[in-house]
Amino acid sequence: MSDCLFCKIAAGEIPSNKVYEDDDFFAFHDIHPKAPTHVLVIPKFHLATLADATKEDSALLGQLMDRVRHIADEVLKLDAGYRVIINVREGGGQVVFHIHVHILGGKRLPF
Ligand code: 5GP
Ligand code: ZN
Repeated sequence: MSDCLFCKIAAGEIPSNKVYEDDDFFAFHDIHPKAPTHVLVIPKFHLATLADATKEDSALLGQLMDRVRHIADEVLKLDAGYRVIINVREGGGQVVFHIHVHILGGKRLPF
């Protein structure tokens, strides 16, 4: 999607602090971290919100969660644990309308 911030980050058109990339997914540090480690994982495919996902997106969403696990465990090495968040639409705190998974870790997180 041409005017989407995260599509542009995934394409390298807007710089980011990248931590992982493969053919279908991209991960980078959040610009306003809410924890010592705060990484966003996105599919390169534009899907605005989890609420817009259909059955056809099931494989993509499964792969997304597999990448989240891989990045948290193997790349970021958050051995003590981490939190995974998907904000959905405005009421859920979503600000950027390209689906993304927050990985938060690096300290014991309050509830
Ligand atoms: P949301 O509230 O939509 O779930 O999360 C969007 C996240 O994207 C926020 O935590 C915000 O700090 C982050 N963010 C917004 N713009 C940029 C940017 O240009 N670069 C990076 N790295 N993160 C961004
Ligand atoms: Zn997008």
